[in-house]
Amino acid sequence: MRQEKLLIPTLREAPSEAEAISHQLLLRAGFIRQVAAGIYTYLPLGLRVLRKVSAIVREEMELAGVQEILMPAMQPAELWHESGRYEVYGQELIRFQDRHQREFVLGPTHEEVITALVRNEVNSYRKLPLTLYQIQTKFRDERRPRFGLLRGREFLMKDAYSFDSSWEGLDSSYRSMYDAYCRIFARCGLNYRPVEADAGAIGGEGGTHEFMALADIGEDTVVSCMSCDYAANLEKAEGHSGEADPSLLLQVEGNAEAGSAVNKQGQAAAGAGHYDRLHTPDTRTIQELAQSTGMAASSFVKTLIYLCDENYIAVLVRGDHEVNEIKVKHALDAENLVLADAAAIEAITGAPTGFAGPIGLSIPILVDRSVAAMKTVIVGANEQDYHLRNVQPGRDFSLRIMGDYRNATEGDCCPRCGGGLVFHRGIEVGQVFKLGTKYSEKLDAKFLDSTGREQLMIMGCYGIGISRILSAVVEQHHDSGGILWPNAIAPFYVHLIMVSVKDTEQVRLAEELYRQLKVAGVEVLLDDRDERPGVKFKDSDLIGIPIRITVGRQAAEGLVEYRERRTAEQIVISADTVVAKVT
Ligand code: ATP
Ligand code: MG
Ligand code: MG
Ligand code: MG
Repeated sequence: MRQEKLLIPTLREAPSEAEAISHQLLLRAGFIRQVAAGIYTYLPLGLRVLRKVSAIVREEMELAGVQEILMPAMQPAELWHESGRYEVYGQELIRFQDRHQREFVLGPTHEEVITALVRNEVNSYRKLPLTLYQIQTKFRDERRPRFGLLRGREFLMKDAYSFDSSWEGLDSSYRSMYDAYCRIFARCGLNYRPVEADAGAIGGEGGTHEFMALADIGEDTVVSCMSCDYAANLEKAEGHSGEADPSLLLQVEGNAEAGSAVNKQGQAAAGAGHYDRLHTPDTRTIQELAQSTGMAASSFVKTLIYLCDENYIAVLVRGDHEVNEIKVKHALDAENLVLADAAAIEAITGAPTGFAGPIGLSIPILVDRSVAAMKTVIVGANEQDYHLRNVQPGRDFSLRIMGDYRNATEGDCCPRCGGGLVFHRGIEVGQVFKLGTKYSEKLDAKFLDSTGREQLMIMGCYGIGISRILSAVVEQHHDSGGILWPNAIAPFYVHLIMVSVKDTEQVRLAEELYRQLKVAGVEVLLDDRDERPGVKFKDSDLIGIPIRITVGRQAAEGLVEYRERRTAEQIVISADTVVAKVT
């Protein structure tokens, strides 16, 4: 496609209401525009990505033997009365009347419609198992629509529903959907974790898992074990272990992968000279610290984690590779517990906290000396007494609650293996539920089994937030210049830049490459705008197409620049070979 006429309204600055980086970038790069709170238009680039994600979802659904249908968004209220959810769903459910005063709702989910469909159309065990899915716009009047596509009031969801004749059948339908979800999120380039979750409002008798894309902006907390594959959302984990144990200690662990990035940041920060030296470690337990704030230990821990995320606490690490002390320090004076307000934090960190008023709590230093078991290289550990600023939990380190080594009790560690637990922030990008007979009972969805007896169908339901994935991916894949789309869902694969539209050599070569790339089946966006090169390159970085080919001054010699967006690696190569390199 040609950029000249394509609607890609890029912006220098992000609108001030956009808090999340993904929201800012999707607006700035011209992928979406807001129509009302939580309601968006997808511009050509945004729609292309939405379609790419949908295509991956469709492929994996087909592979799992699931059939696509399309149900209406407008649903008669009677069905919701039948299921009993009309009253209990609350204000998220958008209700309205037609011209004859008949009651309707806009579907926030489709259990009612699909159960009624299958009840009417499927009567025999011979037709089971049956799994159906759709990709459809959902409506939820969220209390707090925010972060762009992450929490919309109108959004695109893939929802699937399975009908089985036995509980073993449900297990296998569930498993196959779970596996498909893993493939979908991996193909979209997401760093995600499947976690055990609570059944919540949709309810049901069986298990449920959420798929969490790890990101600091995420509204959920993921607890995972460092020693086995146990992972759960915080509510579920607390269900396992009861109230947080008073003897818990909080531990901070660096993320080895992020180490280099952190060190770079740390060096930049050190240059700015804002940083003090280590303070004396505070060895109080969570219990003691919580007491001094008047909070219950469990709420204290939650608040702590929340504040750490919001305020980018400083992490202090002393040590060489045999780590002997690890400290978490709030950017405030860490030696004292003081009542801090947002202004004080902002004054010290130089960054907005996002808090309007006093928050009533500062973060103490917490130290755990029982680190013998920890082998991971810690953030900044290659520099003695190194202070890092703007370190982000999750990306740069994780907070880990572990049993007090002096007084270990059951329940504060992994419920499966007793190992240490790690906390991350997560965005729920999908969820799978074993519903059992909850809806088939209410809506009377039965089948005749092989002995001719009537049985209730056993159901599962499976959702993926397709539009939410766009934002989750951008949260995980961006740099200071803009978005870094994973190849599989990039709006285009190649951005072909014609540096000067007035240079006939450049125009000729760029047009020729454009033609060749299209013939080769490569999705290519040709920047044929009459703009300054700087504008073109800035826009190109912002939009985030994986490969950039620049036809500039060396066009006359048959040379072009080939650059990967993600690595910024750039080479000059012959125009004759560039198409082959891309394909
Ligand atoms: P959340 O906990 O974020 O409110 P949910 O648990 O209510 O989500 P589900 O009913 O499980 O959502 O819906 C399936 C999927 O739809 C979710 O996993 C999520 O990816 C997506 N989703 C839910 N609500 C929204 C929303 N308001 N905007 C965008 N996507 C959403
Ligand atoms: Mg919700
Ligand atoms: Mg949820
Ligand atoms: Mg959910």
